[in-house]
Amino acid sequence: MVEKTKEIINKMADLIIENKKYLTELDSAIGDGDHGINMTKGFKKVKEKLAAKDYENNKELIKTVAMTLISTVGGASGPLYGTAFLNISKIIPDADFDLDSLIEIGEEAVAGVQKRGKAEQGEKTMLDTMIPAVNSLKESKEQDHDLETALKKAKASAEEGMKATIEMQATKGRASYLGERSIGHQDPGATSTYLIIKTVVDELY
Ligand code: ADP
Ligand code: MG
Ligand code: MG
Repeated sequence: MVEKTKEIINKMADLIIENKKYLTELDSAIGDGDHGINMTKGFKKVKEKLAAKDYENNKELIKTVAMTLISTVGGASGPLYGTAFLNISKIIPDADFDLDSLIEIGEEAVAGVQKRGKAEQGEKTMLDTMIPAVNSLKESKEQDHDLETALKKAKASAEEGMKATIEMQATKGRASYLGERSIGHQDPGATSTYLIIKTVVDELY
């Protein structure tokens, strides 16, 4: 399972790196135009770290991802994503992921971001992508959906959440300085979170 997780993280890094310009453009509209640069710097380093040694288990692997993001991604997003991955590293199993473990992973990611950033849903941040995806997984569990259906629904919910940030006014982070002028633009962090969730879903089914 460590090999598969490593593959997922590498694909995630590639997608973020491919979208460097897009993420930076989004951040230029409502922030300081560095989100793509910050994330690319961090995920390039993550790829280097993963290639440099073998990891014994998922916990060790994800902890390395977390520490690398914390130390290399600048800005608000580095510590936020870093804390999310650090939380995940404490609970991630080595067995194949099932709906229960994916829900726990999602909940730990949200808890990490909230511990660090003190934001709620609706404040135009990465949480507006993350929380709907986790809620969707929980709903799928209640409705007894199979894993593939649950993953596809979670991806669709993440995308919807990302797009919903366009109409939101930012009340956390740098975009909040713009007040009402932050309305009408998609949040960069919500967009990078969508790319991360999309990778996990596309790699698991
Ligand atoms: P900076 O704003 O320091 O330049 P980045 O541009 O890398 O950092 O990241 C900006 C993104 O971070 C925002 O688009 C938003 O999604 C996210 N963000 C900022 N503050 C918070 C917070 N308190 N909680 C959750 N996410 C946040
Ligand atoms: Mg920025
Ligand atoms: Mg910055």
